[in-house]
Amino acid sequence: MLEQTLPRIALLATGGTIAGTQVQANSAGYKAGALPIGHLVDAVPGLSNLARIQAEQVANIGSQNMSHDVWGALAARIADLSRQEDIKGIVVVHGTDTLEETAYFLSLVTHTDKPLVLVGAMRPATALGAEGPANLYNAVALAVSAQARGRGPLVVMNEDIHYAREVQKIASMGICAFASPNRGRAGVVRGGEPRFYSRNTTRHTLDSEFSLSALQAAHWPRVDIVYAHAGMDGLLIDALAGHAAGIVLAGVGGGNTTDSALSALSRAAAAGVAVVRSSRTGSGPVDRGGEVDDDAMNFVAAGELSPQKARVLLMLALSVGRDPAQWQRCFEQY
Ligand code: GLU
Repeated sequence: MLEQTLPRIALLATGGTIAGTQVQANSAGYKAGALPIGHLVDAVPGLSNLARIQAEQVANIGSQNMSHDVWGALAARIADLSRQEDIKGIVVVHGTDTLEETAYFLSLVTHTDKPLVLVGAMRPATALGAEGPANLYNAVALAVSAQARGRGPLVVMNEDIHYAREVQKIASMGICAFASPNRGRAGVVRGGEPRFYSRNTTRHTLDSEFSLSALQAAHWPRVDIVYAHAGMDGLLIDALAGHAAGIVLAGVGGGNTTDSALSALSRAAAAGVAVVRSSRTGSGPVDRGGEVDDDAMNFVAAGELSPQKARVLLMLALSVGRDPAQWQRCFEQY
C-alpha cells in the first residue's frame, strides 16, 4: 500500500516493561518505562507497512505508579484523537501491572467506537526473547482492523485479544500472564490477523453513562479496597469509614468476611459509605444475598468484577449518584 494511503494510528505511550531496559539482556532486574516510544516503534519490523504511526509520550512510568492524573490525561487525549477524522484507531502502550484497570476505566469514560487497543509486554525491551515488538505489531494491526470497531478497549498480549471488562493479569512472571477468567478471551491476533470469538455484552464507551468531566467534578471519589482474611477484625474498616466515599471488600469466596468485619462494613454503610462486596478468588460472581443480607445492610454486590475493577466502577457510580440501588444497577450493567 502507498505510504499516504495507509491508515493513521495514534500511539499513546505511558511506559511499562515494554519500554524497560536491563543492564544485561539476561539479567532479571530492570527499569520499567526507560525507553522513549520512538525506540519501541523502530524496533518493530513491518510496522510502517501497517499504518502511519503518530506517537506521543503521555507518561513514562511503571504502571504500579499509574495515577488518576495520568488516567485523566490519557482519557482526555483519547477524546481529542477520537474526534479527529484522519485517526483510524488508537493504541495505548502500558505497563502490565495495572493494564486491566486502565483498560476498564477507559471503557467507561471514552465515548468512541474507534478501535482502542492497550498493549504491554512482560519482558523488557532489551531482554532475550522480548515479546513487546510482536505485541505492538499485533496491537497496531488490530487498531487498523474494522473488526475492532465498537468493542470498547481491547487488550492484546501474547497473541490473545481480551475485552477490557474481562481481562486480568493472572501471573506475576512469564508471557502467559493475561486471561479473561469469567467469559473467556475475545479472540486471537496472530501475525497481525485478528479473529474474534465473541461479542462483549456489557455497557461501554458510546453506551456508557459516565464521563471524565463528572468524575473530575466529583474529585475522583475516594474508594479503598479492603482485603479479607481469616481472623479479620473491623479495625481497618472503622479507620477507613471516616475518609472513604466507598469501600470495596475483596472478600473470601463469594464476597464473604468475618462477622466482625461485616459489622464494621454495616456501620460504614449506615454512615453513608458505599460498600461493595467482591471476591478475592480471581473469578466467579458475587451475587446479592448469598450468605450476606445485602438488602438489610445496604451493600452492593460486585458481580464478576474483580476488587480492582469494582473500585473503578464504584468511583464512577459515586460521581453520578448517591443511591445504593443505582450503584447496584451499575454493577449489573457494566
Ligand atoms: N511494574 C511494571 C509495570 O507495570 C512492570 C510490569 C510490566 O510492564 O510488565 O509497568
